Amino acid sequence: MNHLQVREVIVVGSGPAGHTAAIYAARANLKPLMIEGLTRGGIPGGQLMITNDVENFPGFPQKIAGPELMRAFRDQSLAQGVEIVTDDVHRVDLRHRPFTVWVGENMVEYRSRTVVVATGAQAKWLGLESEAALLGRGVSACAVCDGAFFRGQDVVVVGGGDTAMEEATYLAGLCRSVTIVHRRQEFRACKTMQDRVLKNPKIRVVFDAQVEEVLDVGHGEVTGVRIHVGTSESVVVPCTGLFVAIGHTPNTDLFRGQIELHDSGYIKTKAGSTYTSVAGVFACGDVQDFTYRQAVTAAGSGCMAALDAERWMARAEVDA
Ligand code: NDP
Repeated sequence: MNHLQVREVIVVGSGPAGHTAAIYAARANLKPLMIEGLTRGGIPGGQLMITNDVENFPGFPQKIAGPELMRAFRDQSLAQGVEIVTDDVHRVDLRHRPFTVWVGENMVEYRSRTVVVATGAQAKWLGLESEAALLGRGVSACAVCDGAFFRGQDVVVVGGGDTAMEEATYLAGLCRSVTIVHRRQEFRACKTMQDRVLKNPKIRVVFDAQVEEVLDVGHGEVTGVRIHVGTSESVVVPCTGLFVAIGHTPNTDLFRGQIELHDSGYIKTKAGSTYTSVAGVFACGDVQDFTYRQAVTAAGSGCMAALDAERWMARAEVDA
């Protein structure tokens, strides 16, 4: 299709939400165009591309590697006729219809009646070299995804917000011990979640402590975390897993000022749907979900976005 022709659906993002939206749109004969961005170190496919093993995506009784799962999503999109452009979206205009999306350094322009935003979110990291080196080898940002690999073992959770409390409580159900390392003297999390953590005999808390290094890069696996507590010497907390729970950043810079966002930067969607504040623009997956953040929930909301877009266009035609 000529890039200046007005399309029915453009899907921005290529994680489970984006691909599911594209597959459903293709099957509804909407001939979707997907823009799979390259922001994550030049690799499209979203957060699963940096996930080793996935054991909780239904349909795979044996575990499947994150990148392999995403390859299957992509192959299915192509098999259904989804047109895929591999480059970053640099600008969007969602104020005028048809909507316009500019892609790549050359700002190639695509126009569409509807846009599905599925740009995801990224976990925040501590920024340590050792953390990056051991990512997927004991370092994780998702207890629900990876906790089961640490059954009966000792793990450390970093952070003091609701996510850290939730991750620690979840892990305490599986692991032998959980140590929360938090940089201040008090948690930021709500009182109920703090109380649950503080009452749990399996969870120990170290306040006023910073992670300095994740051990042991030389061995290629996590054996402990070196932390600096208060003004005293550094100590090593032995563990086989480190869960970094210091927040997420939704990838919404492109849409700021054009779609309504929560204060936290996530896209606001109408309850029980993928409708955003802009008619004809739908959001799915982690870019609008700060509660569940799972591949399967992202895929589910991708399906919803395609159905919402299809039905919205059908209604717009009747109203015209
Ligand atoms: P938050 O931003 O609330 O908390 C992040 C935590 O990580 C803070 O304790 C912060 O420390 C700490 N932190 C940030 N950067 C660093 C760093 N570089 N080194 C060490 N520690 C760091 O993020 P959450 O993900 O916890 O929550 C995000 C939103 O989602 C919140 O609104 C929360 O209420 C909501 N949420 C709700 C849940 C629920 O209701 N079930 C579950 C999970 C999240 P400090 O406190 O010092 O700033």
